[in-house]
Amino acid sequence: MKLRKLTVYRHLLPVKGGAYRMANACVESLESTLVRLESDCGHVGWGETCPVGPTYAPSHARGAQAALATMAPALINKEVDKPNILQRHMDGLLNGHNYAKAAIDIAIYDLLGQKMKCSVAHLLGGAVTERIPSYYASPVGSPDETARIAEEKAREGYPRMQVKISGRPVEIDIECVIKVWERIGGRMRLAIDGNRGLTTRDALLLSRSCSHIPFVFEQPCDSLDEIASIRSRLHHPVYIDESATSLATAVRAVGRGLVDGFGMKVTRIGGLTQLAKFRDMCEACHIPHTVDDAWGGDIIAAACAQAGATVTPRLFEGTWLAEPYIEGHYDVHGGIKILGGHIALPTRPGLGIVPDETLFHDEVAHFS
Ligand SMILES: [Mg+2]
Repeated sequence: MKLRKLTVYRHLLPVKGGAYRMANACVESLESTLVRLESDCGHVGWGETCPVGPTYAPSHARGAQAALATMAPALINKEVDKPNILQRHMDGLLNGHNYAKAAIDIAIYDLLGQKMKCSVAHLLGGAVTERIPSYYASPVGSPDETARIAEEKAREGYPRMQVKISGRPVEIDIECVIKVWERIGGRMRLAIDGNRGLTTRDALLLSRSCSHIPFVFEQPCDSLDEIASIRSRLHHPVYIDESATSLATAVRAVGRGLVDGFGMKVTRIGGLTQLAKFRDMCEACHIPHTVDDAWGGDIIAAACAQAGATVTPRLFEGTWLAEPYIEGHYDVHGGIKILGGHIALPTRPGLGIVPDETLFHDEVAHFS
């Protein structure tokens, strides 16, 4: 199967109810980048990458579009049904830029699924569930409001909640964590996400002040070195998210005993091919992890759900989706939704969604 056409679209996703605030980013709408691939046998596959603004990670929408335009001419007429080989080919065209390569990799899996009439989960080794656990991530907010959201999400059936903190005095973060715990107790598993924003001092203060509360501490500080420097003095398991920038980084972090788990994003690690290798490394080392992405619409949501469905349940921390926070679906009828804190695995081939192409008006580039 050869690639005949590659089209890149820009698509704006408004955030529901105003801005979403994190330690180092505040977003009101997201610019998502969509990739449409068409094969010589007429199949169509979709990919997507959507950095959450330009400050969350060293990735941004215009960077993805430029990277895709750099690689695309050399991909036309290439065999695309061997994702590992295609990955190496892309690495030979452009150093880094995993988040752009991921959009092509995801679209290749969608194409393969269409061609072979099977799901992407099947191509990744097989789904172990048709009901994928999700988790809710509350924005940085007042302790009372965050506790109210936690109560609401526990009632909805979410098995896990991630509370975003930082970017303000740590005393407020400590109050927030305590109020959430007082409200929900053990009804949901808890992650506290610093999004790189805490100093080592404040991470230690928070962990000590909340030593009675069972949570995992996600990416408290900016760098892996900072986290390593306080690791032995923390009272909580440490997960990394933003610092796990590649499969190699993740492997080294596990090998050095720096982490107890990961928040992992499909596009950050380079797509589904790399995500499957990461998943298998974690299973071999008994390391829990999520399968998420930053933000994005139904395409990235479907990719995360398909991959999340293949993770061994005892190590799976869930698939976060932007769906509750953004307006609209690409696939009006079969869009990916969270119901009762869980996601139903799509049943159609490939990613399992059919985007309405009439929604995409802003073509950035086309190659054939
Ligand atoms: Mg995180």
